[in-house]
Amino acid sequence: MADASSDIRNVIIIGSGPAGYTAAVYAARANLEPLMFEGSVTAGGALMNTTDVENFPGFTEGVMGPDLMLNMRAQAERFGTEIVTDDVTAVELEGPVKVVTDGEGNTHRAHSVILAMGSAYRELGLPDEKRLSGHGVSWCATCDGFFFREQDIIVVGGGDSAVEEATFLTKFARSVTIVHRRDELRASKIMADRAHSNAKIRFAWNSEVAAIHGEDKVTGVTLRDIVTGETREIEATGLFVAIGHDPRNELVKGVVDLDDEGYVLVDGRSSRTNLDGVFAAGDLVDHTYRQAITAAGSGCSAALDAERWLAARE
Ligand code: FAD
Repeated sequence: MADASSDIRNVIIIGSGPAGYTAAVYAARANLEPLMFEGSVTAGGALMNTTDVENFPGFTEGVMGPDLMLNMRAQAERFGTEIVTDDVTAVELEGPVKVVTDGEGNTHRAHSVILAMGSAYRELGLPDEKRLSGHGVSWCATCDGFFFREQDIIVVGGGDSAVEEATFLTKFARSVTIVHRRDELRASKIMADRAHSNAKIRFAWNSEVAAIHGEDKVTGVTLRDIVTGETREIEATGLFVAIGHDPRNELVKGVVDLDDEGYVLVDGRSSRTNLDGVFAAGDLVDHTYRQAITAAGSGCSAALDAERWLAARE
């Protein structure tokens, strides 16, 4: 293992979605000369896997997810962020000098670290799911509901978020079918009652999606009854997967404080974790909003918090 530099950086940013890149823009413009690890295969974050983003302010006609992320990356680089396309594999975050190990085994040292590793939406694990992501398969009703006006939509899941997504989608859709593996919703009673009384919502109980159909866009799914094993096909142009998400906390489990669901805990409205000089932002922290703009906003907060923390130690 080699120490990549004898310098101790001001700040190392781990993660490269809207949170990480925004933190990098702010830190770089504050002359902190940040070093960012953007990840290897997933560099750029969740929006690299989508098509149109219509709710990020500043783009009247919308913007393609990868274009938005490459622009954020270029903006971070323009002000002097050093970006490394590699994963961080280990961290030592206690003490005044933080140590970050990259995928090559090199170590990098910094006074402060911003964690922005995001969260992963759980997938169904079907062969056509990734291929049709952004072409009918979605994980975010707030992001994509608007594209499905007067269409038939399937929502997979039975918890609060699935029911909330389904109810929200009825604003646009002709019909919404909730596909759930059990014979009743897991959602809270108030949410479930609301769904049951919504004329646009139907239910496929004891069912799972066995296959997704469509060449360029989703056209329907095969449902399998998990009690009888019978299958049937239903037509739909949208498939929303709402079976949960997992914050990418592997690096920091047992190192920083996490909440019951594994999200990094921060102090109030700040980005401060329980460790001095360690800040966190984006979907790694947020299980409420999970939007590009909120992630970007919290990345800004993390950079400002880090900047002020560094200034206070001088
Ligand atoms: P992410 O974007 O998840 O980025 C985190 C990145 O950190 C990872 O991808 C990876 O590259 C990196 N990373 C992780 N671990 C490591 C490590 N150990 N070392 C180095 N790097 C690491 N939101 C909207 O506002 N509008 C939309 O239209 C919209 N559409 C979406 C479509 C899809 C298909 C998905 C999945 C999400 C969508 N979202 C949308 C939600 C939005 O993408 C997220 O809220 C946002 O990307 C979260 O930003 P983040 O920076 O916290 O994390």
